[in-house]
Amino acid sequence: VEASYVSEKSLASRTKDGEDVAIMMNAGLALDMPFLEQTGAEGVGLFRTELQFLIGSQLPSVASQEALYREALDLAGDKPVIFRTADIGGDKTAPYMDHGNEVNPAMGWRGVRMAVDRPGLIRPQLRALLSAAAGRTLWVMFPFVTLPGEVDDIRELLDREIDRSRRREKELPNDVKIGAMIETPASAWRADLIAEKVDFLSVGGNDLAQFYFAADRDSERVQRRYDPMNPGFLSFLKNTVEKVSRTGTPLSYCGEQTADPVTAAALIGVGVRLFSLPAAFVGPFRRLVRSLDAKATAEWLDSNMSQPQVTLRSSFREYLKDSG
Ligand code: PEP
Ligand code: MG
Repeated sequence: VEASYVSEKSLASRTKDGEDVAIMMNAGLALDMPFLEQTGAEGVGLFRTELQFLIGSQLPSVASQEALYREALDLAGDKPVIFRTADIGGDKTAPYMDHGNEVNPAMGWRGVRMAVDRPGLIRPQLRALLSAAAGRTLWVMFPFVTLPGEVDDIRELLDREIDRSRRREKELPNDVKIGAMIETPASAWRADLIAEKVDFLSVGGNDLAQFYFAADRDSERVQRRYDPMNPGFLSFLKNTVEKVSRTGTPLSYCGEQTADPVTAAALIGVGVRLFSLPAAFVGPFRRLVRSLDAKATAEWLDSNMSQPQVTLRSSFREYLKDSG
């Protein structure tokens, strides 16, 4: 982390017009955790637990899962860590998992779909999370939710695991907060209904953009054609943010489009107030927040959102430059 950003890590993450924008960071390994302190991020908004599943040649044991989660929590101190349960499949494949012959694995058997079908995979993970967070708050988030009912299915599995631990008189978390990731157009469209069923939501913009544009996130050729600064995509996000904000359920954005400051500014403009980003972008993002007038940015975007063009990137960049 660059020295000039380190010196700014305690500065308020507040726009020029006084809007607070919370900044958390993405992680996946214990090695990432020191960046919390170095960047001044408020917590881990996305801990990708599947990394541990992908590096080994077999399923990690409950004990090794629990050890990783406990270490992450210990290293985070008072800051929250939101564990995303394993999203295996799509772009993240484990050699020992048989997905059958899927022509479109990104749209295949992954995330909560797999968890609900194979409780034998998710229940040990939930057990590991519950014991690692004993005596503290457990924040757990479920990937690739498509329909509101999938939250009920996964909650049932979690409740069963909590009952099991209780029967065995194991110490439990003081509180369990559950979240759903909004990563498909279907879940974004019904985000208000999903919001009613959870404690928090997080937009996985990498997958959401992939499915909004029907453009493979790993295909450079198609990625180049579709910019998240597309006015249609921005209005889609704005609609989702507004729907959710009426429910009072907090919503974050953890997609990595925030690596680009122009897009990050637009996300603030469409109303996102809580972000989780790769550690390297926390400092630059805080600086951006502090330079921005959120209300004026929102107004500029509103008046340009019905444009038919491919992207608002260059005009919005000009606007940002002119507004200092
Ligand atoms: C996303 O889809 O935006 C996300 C944060 O999850 P991942 O990149 O791990 O799929
Ligand atoms: Mg995703």
